[in-house]
Amino acid sequence: MDEKSQGEILKEKLFHEKKNGWENISEEGKNKIFDYCEGYMKFLNRSKTEREIVSNCEEMAKNKGFIDIRHISNLNVGDKIYYNNRGKSIYLAVIGSDPIEAGINVVGSHADSPRLDLKPNPIYEDDGFAYFKTHYYGGIKKYQWTTIPLAIHGIIAKTNGEKIKINIGEDESDPIFTITDLLPHLAQEQMEKKLKDGISGEDLNILIGSIPFNDEKVSDKVKLNILNILNQKYGIKEVDFLSSEIEIVPAMKARSLGFDRSMVAAYGQDDKVCVYTSITAMLDMNIPKTTAVCIISDKEEIGSVGNTGMESHVFDTFMSVILNKLNINVPNLLDKVFCNSRMLSADVDAGVDPTYASVSEKNNASFLGKGIGLCKYTGARGKSGASDANAEFVAEVRNLFEKNNIKYQISELGKVDVGGGGTIAYILANKGMDVIDCGVPVLSMHAPYEVTSKFDIFEAYRTYKAFWEE
Ligand code: MN
Ligand code: MN
Repeated sequence: MDEKSQGEILKEKLFHEKKNGWENISEEGKNKIFDYCEGYMKFLNRSKTEREIVSNCEEMAKNKGFIDIRHISNLNVGDKIYYNNRGKSIYLAVIGSDPIEAGINVVGSHADSPRLDLKPNPIYEDDGFAYFKTHYYGGIKKYQWTTIPLAIHGIIAKTNGEKIKINIGEDESDPIFTITDLLPHLAQEQMEKKLKDGISGEDLNILIGSIPFNDEKVSDKVKLNILNILNQKYGIKEVDFLSSEIEIVPAMKARSLGFDRSMVAAYGQDDKVCVYTSITAMLDMNIPKTTAVCIISDKEEIGSVGNTGMESHVFDTFMSVILNKLNINVPNLLDKVFCNSRMLSADVDAGVDPTYASVSEKNNASFLGKGIGLCKYTGARGKSGASDANAEFVAEVRNLFEKNNIKYQISELGKVDVGGGGTIAYILANKGMDVIDCGVPVLSMHAPYEVTSKFDIFEAYRTYKAFWEE
């Protein structure tokens, strides 16, 4: 082999080259990644909504010895606890050996994904079909949600306190639902519209039936027949939809993508990919020095608002209860703990899509297969609204990655002046924590079927575990 030239040696030493993580990977290493992602895909298939995620994560945690914080009176080093906030967000913690005053290490993701919610009065009949009216949740491209198989998940709360769970469209023997679109032959006018106006919010109507109830005397026979089916199956009446939370999600299963099976295609990987990688990291971890906290929040896609969103004070209450039960709480201690704490805001990142490369600036963009993606700052147009990680903290995180041989990349969300986005990072930063966004690059983000790289998924798991175990 030729000897390396002086320039080559110098370049290797001085340049920051981001290599594809699959290069030089051993067969054993690849199998480990693929095995881990099998578990991830199974999790996705049974966890499509925030309620399902929280209940499955609670179950997984209980199986590993985590206890509901309300059922424990004194906390000690090594104790594992959680708090389930109204079935829609959950916080977990492992008490570390160092005093908690010195701070905690948080990894926080979100369980909600873009979807279609049923309106409070959803059911109606039109020209022999029965439909559900929807109101979309989060940032979607509406045209992507037509003509695909859809499933119905959610709960109906009855006035007698009973809660009925609904999950239909996932089992092979279940029916599915869909939103129709116009045939091209008659779509001249629609096709002239801007893409964002091609399908309007009020067009997102779910087709749910077409057989009329067999009685000449009544009107709305198809609606009546559907309500009759729902009454027999779930014991509900039309009025019960008023107190329901029913979500329409793609009925597609998570699948390996590509001849080489290197990627995952699935609904809701924003942000279930960070939910799964962080919860499994927490369940697999040894007792840490610094108290480890895992947040799985709700409502991120619509601004983290409400009592299950990260903006609520329920998380602060959870932390206060920990301080109380460690028998160390004093006035302002919580503020001090927060100011000494560090957080990885675990949320997905926009991966470079070669077909749409013009929106990315490639030196500052994340690529699938090149490892976990860091965003030093979010925000848009002049960093407006950005949560910007301090350089000193970025150096700490870099050091963690380099020590543990974790592949990482630091990027911005798209070109300057093209776009931007936000996560829950700023909320914890406002409490005084050092926070950086740190997640998995995704293609087709917010679409019914999103794409990630298995390599990055496993690096995310390794990242969160190393961060907590440091
Ligand atoms: Mn997200
Ligand atoms: Mn999102």
